[in-house]
Amino acid sequence: METKIIDTIPLKVDFEALCQSLRIRPDTERAAELKQLVEQAELIARPKAMYRLGFIEEKGEDYIVVDGLPFKSRILRVNVGETQRVFFFIATCGEELDSWSSSRPSMILRYYADVIQEIALRQVSEALAADIEANYRPGQTAMMTPGSLDDFPLSEQMGVFAMLGDPRTSIGVDLNDSYLMKPMKSVAGVMFSTQFDFESCQLCPREVCQNRRSPYQPELLTERYVAH
Ligand code: SF4
Repeated sequence: METKIIDTIPLKVDFEALCQSLRIRPDTERAAELKQLVEQAELIARPKAMYRLGFIEEKGEDYIVVDGLPFKSRILRVNVGETQRVFFFIATCGEELDSWSSSRPSMILRYYADVIQEIALRQVSEALAADIEANYRPGQTAMMTPGSLDDFPLSEQMGVFAMLGDPRTSIGVDLNDSYLMKPMKSVAGVMFSTQFDFESCQLCPREVCQNRRSPYQPELLTERYVAH
């Protein structure tokens, strides 16, 4: 199955919103520094994404097999329900922004650059979802990323990368021996049509997390995912 690459999304930063989120007053020297960073980043950034359609060949109690490759996760198995299609994807802020960010001369500038990398990753992830919607009309979707839950461990990144061929050459994303991606501001996983409103955060008890997208619902695990 062919992979689709998305690499023409320009980074566009809403400077006022960024100042607000970082609590920087627009008329200060700090804001002027930030403005300069944003202008550099917008010139350098090449956020990228790739995805590929896969067909589910087998479903067990706690695994699915897609195009010959098994993925072990009870939660993924339940979430895909009756659907036969899944989309493997990787999105990244891009190597260009990553090396620019790590070479900023002070800790505070590296922190701001880090936030700009997150914006780039968010924008290319939105473009990826829009492309899947335009080409395949999956309807309501959810996604799972390896490592977000014990049930779907980080080692499953290997399967996602294997499904996508050569992400290093295609979009500059490497996977190391600990299954961590470089650039770090990258996300990989599997997206699928679903009848549930699903976020991994619903099953994650972590108390302090600035990226939480949904409240923890401890009862959901037994209600939906434990086999009766
Ligand atoms: S709450 Fe935070 S750590 Fe837990 S799944 Fe959501 S984003 Fe990840």
